[in-house]
Amino acid sequence: MIPATFEYHVPPSLVEATALLSRLGEDAKVLSGGQSLIPLMKLRLATPRHIVDINSIPGLSDVRESDGMLRIGGLVREADLEESSLIRTRYPLLHDTSGVIADPVVRNLATVGGNLAHGDPANDHPAAMLALDAEVVAVGPRGERRLPVSTFFTGPFATALGNDEILVEVRVPAPGPHSAGAYLKLERKVGDFATAAVAVQVDLDAGGVCTRAGIGLTNVGPVPIKAVAAEAACWFWAWRRLNELADSGARPDFDRIAYVLDPAGRGIEDLVYFTAGTGIGGGALAAGRLVHGLMHSEMGHLLVRRAPEEVPGFAGVCPYHGDCLEGMASGPAIEARWGRPAESLPPNHPAWRIEADYLAQACVNVTSVLSPRVIVLGGGVMEQQQLLEMIRARAAEHARGYFPLPRIERPALEHPGLSGALILAQEAAR
Ligand SMILES: Cc1cc2nc3c(=O)[nH]c(=O)nc-3n(C[C@H](O)[C@H](O)[C@H](O)COP(=O)(O)OP(=O)(O)OC[C@H]3O[C@@H](n4cnc5c(N)ncnc54)[C@H](O)[C@@H]3O)c2cc1C
Repeated sequence: MIPATFEYHVPPSLVEATALLSRLGEDAKVLSGGQSLIPLMKLRLATPRHIVDINSIPGLSDVRESDGMLRIGGLVREADLEESSLIRTRYPLLHDTSGVIADPVVRNLATVGGNLAHGDPANDHPAAMLALDAEVVAVGPRGERRLPVSTFFTGPFATALGNDEILVEVRVPAPGPHSAGAYLKLERKVGDFATAAVAVQVDLDAGGVCTRAGIGLTNVGPVPIKAVAAEAACWFWAWRRLNELADSGARPDFDRIAYVLDPAGRGIEDLVYFTAGTGIGGGALAAGRLVHGLMHSEMGHLLVRRAPEEVPGFAGVCPYHGDCLEGMASGPAIEARWGRPAESLPPNHPAWRIEADYLAQACVNVTSVLSPRVIVLGGGVMEQQQLLEMIRARAAEHARGYFPLPRIERPALEHPGLSGALILAQEAAR
């Protein structure tokens, strides 16, 4: 239980600390609260030759709100969060989380930053930060980087931080006035690591409609998990429920649904909605009625022609058609084509030109049949901010000026699937 020999450094500033880390390379480890690193060193599971203690660096211990963000400094301790009235009143999910980590002795030293930087899928803050859509700020010799927590955890005990980078801040978007969050942890006894745990954060608008939900899971996989499939499933649930209502002859309040799908499009009676994520789904309102004949619309399976930039030999992933719209443009299609999850591809990756082409073809095809006034493109794939303009440009190229194109927009709400699902549930309950 005695660590191997190491050299101990106490840099007085961030600049000196990152320069030191850069010079010492993989032989060095940052020390914050030491509540994970020191036990590992005692067990000789970690044997760093240099320890760079960052506790003397000023300016890293604040918890404050500014510019619409909660900012948690890199050296803020769990006990600081637990005792903060700002956290208790505005961020109950974080208050819940810090209160169930280990015991008071550990919480007096352990830092929130270290809890994330350690990359342990059993740690509690990663799931909370995933639910809150937080980002971390890392500083290294080459400057500052902002890393979304959703792509921060790269493997068991591995993160996107470089060896010479220090996590200096965690940023959490400030919640709206009607929001709530909670952390539920199953543990064998108080103070243990989680057997499993879930973090949930929900925002409502003034009318009580859910505008955002985040779900993070602790210790149920090799990395902390953001339950995006559960969020995406709400989309499909919404459309399925809509189709069920139409099948049963019920007539939900489509104006309210259109409002949820696109508040800018309130009152628009001719609207097409695509969602591109784990699959592709689409629904259409024509003259205020859901388009539903022999069956509900299956726009995800539109037949498309190959994008000019398509990877030779890529056959598509649809189990029925191979290279239909869903087969070529869903998240799984992108991952199959490039061997990496779509969300890990940078904005200038060729994947997005191909994606824009297929979604543009879908827009042109539905326009030629249904002539909607607005096409709303939602789903996880559309979280790529660069895509919308690329799709509009490609759609104009495909239409070749033969007919006018409708407005092509993003959903105005951040998580419209959840909102839609709630409204449909309300409709069904009447
Ligand atoms: C008895 C016990 C019970 C525990 N129970 C729980 C629990 O129930 N839930 C839970 O979540 N955690 C638990 N922990 C872990 C505890 O919360 C850790 O302290 C925390 O995970 C790491 O924070 P730290 O500040 O102590 O980091 P350290 O131990 O100092 O560092 C951990 C790792 O992160 C790196 N690191 C730390 N800070 C930074 C930074 N600012 N920039 C870059 N890299 C950095 C270090 O190099 C090291 O690799 C427990 C610990 C103990 C000892």
